[in-house]
Amino acid sequence: MQTYDVVIVGAGTAGAFLANRLCARGHSVLVIEKNPREKIGTKYDIFHIEEKEFARFDLPRPVKGDEAWAFEFTKNYTADPKNLYPRLAENPIVGLHMHAYTVLLNERASAAGADFLYGASFSDFLYEDGKISGVIYETDGEQYEQRAKVTVDCAGMFSPVRTSLPDDSLVENFKLGGEDMFYVILRYVKLLHEKDYLDGSCGWPFFKSWIAPCADPAGAIVGIGAGHGYDYAESVYQKMLEHITLPEHELVKIEKGCTPYTRPPYSFVTDNFVVSGDAGCLTKPINGEGVTSGMAHLEIVAKVLDRRLRTGNTSAEALWEINRKYNLTQGADFAFTRALLVGVINAASFDEFEFAFESGLISDELVSAGSAGPELKLSPAFLAGAAKTLLGGIFSGKVSKQTVKETVRALKTANAVKAHYLNFPDKIEDFKDWCAAADDMWDRIGKIK
Ligand SMILES: Cc1cc2nc3c(=O)[nH]c(=O)nc-3n(C[C@H](O)[C@H](O)[C@H](O)COP(=O)(O)OP(=O)(O)OC[C@H]3O[C@@H](n4cnc5c(N)ncnc54)[C@H](O)[C@@H]3O)c2cc1C
Repeated sequence: MQTYDVVIVGAGTAGAFLANRLCARGHSVLVIEKNPREKIGTKYDIFHIEEKEFARFDLPRPVKGDEAWAFEFTKNYTADPKNLYPRLAENPIVGLHMHAYTVLLNERASAAGADFLYGASFSDFLYEDGKISGVIYETDGEQYEQRAKVTVDCAGMFSPVRTSLPDDSLVENFKLGGEDMFYVILRYVKLLHEKDYLDGSCGWPFFKSWIAPCADPAGAIVGIGAGHGYDYAESVYQKMLEHITLPEHELVKIEKGCTPYTRPPYSFVTDNFVVSGDAGCLTKPINGEGVTSGMAHLEIVAKVLDRRLRTGNTSAEALWEINRKYNLTQGADFAFTRALLVGVINAASFDEFEFAFESGLISDELVSAGSAGPELKLSPAFLAGAAKTLLGGIFSGKVSKQTVKETVRALKTANAVKAHYLNFPDKIEDFKDWCAAADDMWDRIGKIK
């Protein structure tokens, strides 16, 4: 049996991206994918990529007329719960068809030398001397073994791979519970009046809802992504309709899907194993999107794996650098943003959200900063201005003392959790203590309501 350098489980955007990166560096890669090729990337139709991410990750950039291209726009509004004070961030976004783009990434990896096995479902790990040495997979009702120096889990948020790791593994094997994800409901609609056709998107964070363009210029996607379950998401959507007047439209179709909204496992690596993409809960805290935030992690994975495969050492110690490099960069930024958002969103009421927009606390600059990078950067000048505005809000009775207290607490916790991630241990022997302190912090941060 051939031993591959790397076997990747999952041919979604994450798996295909990594396969390309590793093959380009001369490694042998097999990707196993449970779906047939014609079904990859069909979990929903449209996803967004920021224009700047194509260059950052050296991604193929579809243009109008290509199968994967759907639309593009630049204006991104964020508005208050009464839709009176829309704030604008200019950030070019490209809408792509998920299936066609996933096929494109699969083809690119295949051209770089990756082997793909479609209709092959991971069933278990292969072990040698107690360490992972490949996978057992099932295809057409038969079980097969495939040896590999490293196994990478890119099997998506409900990954059967990471969750099959033994309990004492360095990588946690938790299964996502109902409070660890956003339930997204997308309504594809036809707009009835030309005057309403969209030239950008608008989000209403209080309702976790938005309207955005779709492939049909006379259409739109009205989305909601909320915790607890689809019924709860639907009830928030109905509440939103009581306050926001959407342009007149007819419903074309509804799509539903889930995206992880929880902290990633503390370690992404153990001996001969790495987890990434949605399987590693790498989605952006600001909006639950995960295609390019997963790639930020995978760039690190590809570089470290390349070096370690060359030296023939893919032990947990050798791969630990992946944890360090990620947790000291995007990992720390996401931890900060997640902690802050959970605290503020859980604390603020409808009227307080309204006040935040009306008073200018949520400004064009702030929403631009939110859409610009992995972390919501809050300058000292912004914080000083915010403190003044909030004090004014307390005096005028528009903001409760309790909410301000919760907001300050959230900011402190966000800074503390970021500092903790920036202090991620460089030695495995210090990991247990680091995890215990991180557990305490995440317990205090809690889940988004
Ligand atoms: C409605 C909705 C809208 C979204 N919109 C955006 C957006 O606009 N922009 C954005 O960046 N993100 C968006 N996201 C998130 C984004 O879809 C994910 O972050 C991204 O697709 C994760 O890619 P992945 O390759 O890690 O996982 P997946 O795309 O889930 O791929 C995992 C692959 O593994 C395969 N697999 C699973 N189990 C096995 C097994 N046992 N054996 C073999 N193969 C297996 C699956 O079939 C699948 O092909 C959205 C999510 C939802 C639900």
